[in-house]
Amino acid sequence: MVKIKSLEEIELMRESALIVSQTLGMLAKEIKPGVTTLYLDRLAESFIRDHSAVPGFLGLYDFPNTLCVSPNAEVVHGIPNDKPLEEGDILSVDCGVLKNGFYGDHAYTFEVGQVAKATKKLLEVTKKSLYIGIEAFYHGNRVGDLGYAIQNYTESFGYGVVRELVGHGLGKSMHESPEIPNYGKRGKGKKFINGMVIAIEPMINLGTKNIRHFSDGWTIKTVDNQPSAHFEHNVALIDGKPQLLSTFDYIYEALGIQSDEEIPFKKHTAKA
Ligand code: MG
Ligand code: MG
Repeated sequence: MVKIKSLEEIELMRESALIVSQTLGMLAKEIKPGVTTLYLDRLAESFIRDHSAVPGFLGLYDFPNTLCVSPNAEVVHGIPNDKPLEEGDILSVDCGVLKNGFYGDHAYTFEVGQVAKATKKLLEVTKKSLYIGIEAFYHGNRVGDLGYAIQNYTESFGYGVVRELVGHGLGKSMHESPEIPNYGKRGKGKKFINGMVIAIEPMINLGTKNIRHFSDGWTIKTVDNQPSAHFEHNVALIDGKPQLLSTFDYIYEALGIQSDEEIPFKKHTAKA
């Protein structure tokens, strides 16, 4: 069952989402060759606790850490370890937070030093597809329309859209109904209505869409060992339109990136 949120609840969810955004912004300055993902994990856990919140992934389904860190061909759910990052790697960092009883959950794929041109393009297209998905999250549109929009855009570049992992409703549970696949058929699936809050998270592979599960029970990797990208935002449906609860602004500030991609989906405060 879809759990509709009140405007008050959505404001609490914005708080949770923004702590994740700030955590990712803090990590953006730390991600470089030589750094281990376990180090990043410890920084993230302290940062979240310093903001009077609790890591949302730690212990969830028995996950052992604060961050899911998935370098290169790893798609999602990688466990932090003591292997240093290398020049040219990419690193998906997915982070969850629990505050005031509500979860935040979002992700960014970072470049470690200089990455290959084809990989850079994969990141650019995957991130763009996230905003294309957000655009499709409006009152009366359907889950299949959103999935179709992401799939249609990313497959036009020859990329593989992961099927086994999907976005989801978000709230007092990390994973609520409905599932939000990054593929779909237009006009199909559940209708979007005001008060829904979802995590939209395209997971897009440079090569084949096919993945394999590792014996650690968590890590998921592309079968052809080609890179995979993952970007995730938390979005509420208010007055018929999508509104971002999370933001990449802290990351962009840390990395000196200029972007206007989020402007159409920001909360607009009335001018005096
Ligand atoms: Mg996530
Ligand atoms: Mg998620």
